[in-house]
Amino acid sequence: MTTTHNLGFPRIGARRELKFALESYWKGESSRDALKALGAELRQRHWQDQAGIDLVPVGDFAFYDQVLDMSFTLGNLPERVRGFHGDTLDNYFRVARGRSAQSAEDHAGCCGGVAAGEMTKWFDTNYHYIVPEFTSATEFKLDASRILEQLAEAKAQGVKAKPVLVGPVTYLSIGKAKDDSDKLALLPRLLPVYAELLDALAAQGVEWVQIDEPLLVTELDADWQHAFNTAYHHLKAAKVKILLATYFGQLLENKYLAANLPVAGLHVDAINGRDDVVPLLSMLPAHKVLSLGVINGRNIWKSDLAAILDWLEPLAQRLGERLWIAPSCSLLHVPVDLASEQKLDAEVKWWLAYALQKLEELRVLAAALRHGRDAVKDELAANQAAISARRNSPRVNNPGVKAAIARLNAALGQRKSVYAQRAPKQAALLKLPAYPTTTIGSFPQTAEIRHARSEFKAGRLDAAGYKAAMQAEIGRSVKEQEVLGLDVLVHGEAERNDMVEYFGEQLDGYAFSQFGWVQSYGSRCVKPPILFGDISRPKAMTVEWIKYAQSLTQKPMKGMLTGPVTILNWSFVRDDQPRSVSCHQLALAIREEVLDLEKAGVRVIQIDEAALREGLPLRKSQWQEYLDWAVESFRITANGVRDETQIHTHMCYSEFNDIIASIADMDADVITIETSRSDMELLDAFDNFKYPNEIGPGVYDIHSPNIPSQEHIVQLMRKAAERVPAERLWVNPDCGLKTRQWAEVVPALTNMVAAAKTLRASA
Ligand code: GLN
Ligand code: ZN
Repeated sequence: MTTTHNLGFPRIGARRELKFALESYWKGESSRDALKALGAELRQRHWQDQAGIDLVPVGDFAFYDQVLDMSFTLGNLPERVRGFHGDTLDNYFRVARGRSAQSAEDHAGCCGGVAAGEMTKWFDTNYHYIVPEFTSATEFKLDASRILEQLAEAKAQGVKAKPVLVGPVTYLSIGKAKDDSDKLALLPRLLPVYAELLDALAAQGVEWVQIDEPLLVTELDADWQHAFNTAYHHLKAAKVKILLATYFGQLLENKYLAANLPVAGLHVDAINGRDDVVPLLSMLPAHKVLSLGVINGRNIWKSDLAAILDWLEPLAQRLGERLWIAPSCSLLHVPVDLASEQKLDAEVKWWLAYALQKLEELRVLAAALRHGRDAVKDELAANQAAISARRNSPRVNNPGVKAAIARLNAALGQRKSVYAQRAPKQAALLKLPAYPTTTIGSFPQTAEIRHARSEFKAGRLDAAGYKAAMQAEIGRSVKEQEVLGLDVLVHGEAERNDMVEYFGEQLDGYAFSQFGWVQSYGSRCVKPPILFGDISRPKAMTVEWIKYAQSLTQKPMKGMLTGPVTILNWSFVRDDQPRSVSCHQLALAIREEVLDLEKAGVRVIQIDEAALREGLPLRKSQWQEYLDWAVESFRITANGVRDETQIHTHMCYSEFNDIIASIADMDADVITIETSRSDMELLDAFDNFKYPNEIGPGVYDIHSPNIPSQEHIVQLMRKAAERVPAERLWVNPDCGLKTRQWAEVVPALTNMVAAAKTLRASA
C-alpha cells in the first residue's frame, strides 16, 4: 500500500502567530516562556493538521530558520558568538539577527554585542537561511536536545514522526568557509556527528529519518559527487532508515548517484523532475522506497488529481509497497490554509490549494491508489470541476492577449538607435551636469502615508481624500529634492504599498489574498500576488501621479515602474503556461505604460528589475535560456521609446560578473546598482568594454542608518571613475529610501549632492 508523507510544514502559522510572538519577544514585551509555549502550540496544531498522513515531519519547526537549527544541532557556531552567558535561545537569535552592544537586551554590554550571520536564499526559493560559517579549524559537536525534545513532544501526542534533517553534504555546500579553506575537508569531522545523531534518534524508536539533500539537483563536480558517496557510506551503519530527499529540480546526470547511495529510500520532485522518474525506476535497487513528490510544494494551485493518477497508477503497479507519495518539497513555501481567505475572489479561490488543501489532495490520491478511484469519486469529481473551470475560464484566457503574444517579434525590443547616438540627444534635452545625482525611487513611507492608506482601505477616507494625502506627500518629496539640489527627481512612491503589488492590483489577471503569507526569513513574510490569467492593462497606472509630480518642478521627473521579470519573480505564477509566456505578457502591459508616460512628456523612465537575478535556474547550464527571455521581456517593455527618452533600470544586488553580457543586452541608457558595501570592486564587471552605457554605482548603503560622509562618497566615486569613464557615471544611493526616516535621508543626500559638486569641480 502506498505510504503518504510530508517533507515539512509552514511554521509561521495560519495567522502569522509565530511572527507576532517573535517580534513581541524581541521587543521585550513578552517572555521567553510565552514564546516557547507558542512554539509548542504551533507544532501541536500543525501535527494535528497532518494527522491524516502516514509519516509526519518533526524537526521542521524552527524559531528562526531550520539551517540555523542544524548549525546548533551540529555545534557549529561562529567563533564570535561563543562564550555568551545568556540563554541558548537568545544566543540563537543573536546569531540570526546580531545584537548591538548598546541594546537593552540581556548581556548586550558584556558578552552580547555581535554581528548577525549572513543570510542568503535557500536554493531557488524566496526563503532565506542563515549561512553556516566554517574555517579549517571547525569542529562539530552534537547537541541533539532540540530535535529530541520535539520528538518526545510528538511521541507524547501520538504523532507518526519522521525527523527531518538538512543533509551533511548540502549543509557543507550552502555554508561559507570564512578563511577560504576547503569545506569538503570538514566532511570527515562532520559525519561522525550525523551518525551519533541518527543513533540518538534510533534510540527513541525512530524508524525513518528524512535527510534533505537538494544539492543533488545542481551541477556537481567530482569532489562533491564523491562527498555524497563518502557521506552515505559512512551513515549506512545507522540503525534508522534514511529517506534521502531531493527537490526543487531535476536530478539529470546525478540520477545514478542518487539512486545508488546506500539509503533505504529516495524522494524526488516529480513536478520539476518528472522526467527523472521513469529512468530512475530501472536504476533504483529493488529494495528501495521511491517517494514521488507529486503535489507542487511551490505554488498555490489545485493539482489535477486525475492527471496525476493517470501517470501514477502504472507506477504504483510496478512499485507496490515501495511507492510513497508526498508534496514535491517542504510546504514551507506555501501559505497554510485557504479556508482563512474571506475576501479572495471566489472564482479564483476555487482553483487554489494552500498547505492544508495540498495534504488533502495527497490523501485523496493515496485513497485512489489503495482502493480505486471510485472510493473517492466525489472528491475527484469536485477536483475535476475546479480544474476544468480554471482551464476554460474567460478570466484566464484573453484572446486579445494571446494574439499579441503570437505577434511578438524582436523589433519590439529594439531601440531606434544605438546608445552612442541616443546619448547626445538625451543630453541636449536633459542638460544634466557631470556626475548627475538622482535617487532610486522611493522616499520614506511615513506614518502619515501608512495612516492614510489604512484609512482608505478601511473606507474611512474617500478616494479624493486619499489622492490629496498622497499628492501632499509627493509635493513634500519634490520640495525636499529641490532644496537638496538633486538633478533628476522622483515622485517618491508614496502611493505604493509594494513595488509589485501596486502594479498587480491594477492589471487584469492578478488576484490578491489576505492570508497567503510565506516565510521569507525569521519573522518576515511575503504575500506574493497571484498571477492567474492572461495579463492586460485596463488603463494607465502611474501617469497621473508622475504628471502631478512633474507639474511641481522644472527638473526632470523620472517615471517609475517595476519591470516584468521582477513582477513575475515576486508573484505566484501560472502552472499552465511557461514562465516566459507570463513574463512576455507582463512586458507588453508595462510597455504600454512606458509609452503612455512618454506621451505625457516624461523624459526619463526607470524600470526596476530588482529581482532579475533571483530567477536564475539552479543549474548554470540553464541560465542562458532564462536570461534570454528575461532580457527580451525587459527590452520589449523599455525599448519602444524615442531616442530622446532616457531609460533607467535598477538592480539591488551586487553580483554581475557572470551575467554582465545579458545586463548590457537590456540596453538601458542608465543602470543603477548596489555597490556601496563592495567598495566599487564590483564595477570591474562593468568596465569599459562589457558595459557600454551609463552607470550609477550606489554610494549610500540604505540598509544602514549610518549617514555616509561627503568624503567617503567622493572617494567611492573616484574609485568608480578608475573603472568607468567619468562622463558615464551617476551619483545615487544603493536602493530606494522607503525604509529610512527623513531625518536620515536629508543629511545623507546633502552629503551626496555635495560630493557630486566636489567631483565636478575637480573633473
Ligand atoms: N523604485 C524602488 C524603490 O525605490 C526600487 C526598490 C528595489 O529595487 N527593491 O523603492
Ligand atoms: Zn533596489
